[in-house]
Amino acid sequence: MTIIHLGIDDTDSDDGMCTTYLITLILENLINEDIKLTDYPNLIRLNPNIPWRTRGNAALCIRLDTDNPDKIFKIAKKTMIKNSESKNNKANSGLVMLCRKKVPRNIMRFAENCTSKEVKMEEMRKLVKNKDIKYFGQGNKRGLIGALASIGNTLENDHTYELIAYRKDGRGERGVSLQSILKIDKKKEYSLFSNIDYSNHRVLITPHGNDPILFALRGNNPEHLYKAMSELKLYEDVERFVIFRSNQGTNEHLRNRLDESVLKTYDSGYITGKMIERPIVIKGGHVFIKIKNNNKIINCAIYAPTISLKNLARNLKTGDEIEVGGGISKKSKKFGRILNAEYIRIIKLTDRNSKKNPLCKKCSKSMKSIGKNKGYRCIKCGSRSNKIRRIKNNIEIENKLYLPVLSAQRHLIKPEERYGKEQKNKKKLSGNWFKIFGK
Ligand SMILES: [Zn+2]
Repeated sequence: MTIIHLGIDDTDSDDGMCTTYLITLILENLINEDIKLTDYPNLIRLNPNIPWRTRGNAALCIRLDTDNPDKIFKIAKKTMIKNSESKNNKANSGLVMLCRKKVPRNIMRFAENCTSKEVKMEEMRKLVKNKDIKYFGQGNKRGLIGALASIGNTLENDHTYELIAYRKDGRGERGVSLQSILKIDKKKEYSLFSNIDYSNHRVLITPHGNDPILFALRGNNPEHLYKAMSELKLYEDVERFVIFRSNQGTNEHLRNRLDESVLKTYDSGYITGKMIERPIVIKGGHVFIKIKNNNKIINCAIYAPTISLKNLARNLKTGDEIEVGGGISKKSKKFGRILNAEYIRIIKLTDRNSKKNPLCKKCSKSMKSIGKNKGYRCIKCGSRSNKIRRIKNNIEIENKLYLPVLSAQRHLIKPEERYGKEQKNKKKLSGNWFKIFGK
């Protein structure tokens, strides 16, 4: 038996399909073959700051044991051609197979770059020349980049799980009882995350688009996901479900500190620095801040839909030291390159108390300054004082991490409830992770 890694990407469009579903179609067609999966199917989110990314920006990989890699490749290729949106010229699908137990170091490095940088077709083309690789691409073949990246990201570090259930008839509102979603969300022992955005009154487990997904549950433990699914009350039939292992909710794209002196368009990462002027709030409620580090000034944008993050940004002050994570946008005439913020961590706050002239003890009026360092005097009764008042500011900012509201968080962003719950130990593929209920 040989271990093979099979990656696919870019098979969906706004009109339909979903690469996560296509991989289950491949699994379905492989059921009768003599294969053994060596891991949960992997759902790899790539750099979200690349503008030409696919809808969900997800690439998929299955890793399995087989005696007949060529036959597996043939089945996967056929399934992709039949179902991918490339057949309507709306996707640029890619399929890559690596026939080798251990993923080569250079492919792992390529995958690392794909989560936080812009990667060129040329880099992918060099790597797929490997004698252990077979590949097939459609359209402009850009999907080969993600397909190869999904193979190279073996999720050795922090990872999460996602259970996706698909619907029989993909039309209209999803038939999932809100009461039952609220119920499973309250069960903290299930370690689910990002089910509901309470601040925005939005359910996040059910999508709204034209894709085949009925609901998706994210969490730290695959068994919990299965239990939680069984407790959901549904008004429509599940056609199939699958549990993926994923880099979602891990901040994987923001691992690298960005170099202020060479900010590259579409790079994701973080920077630290000091606020050098007051935040600017523009029409629409977007906030712009300027921070400085190593004599370089970096413009950061905090967009209105992030709500909680934008509210924090408005209250930052000159002198505050912060860390900002996010992606570098393309240069614009007005602002140059901007770091679009996905989180802000307060490192050190400047004094928030404001200074006021002393009050006269007799008249309760604010005293007037007599001159620099000469103290204050009441203009009514003539009393003197040199004690300035410190007024505690009502705006409460703490030395902590600030994130957008849940509904504005990207797939890769680590939600607050996952801090301290990072996991490195892979769980062996077991139990209920894939089932087709019939169409
Ligand atoms: Zn007075």
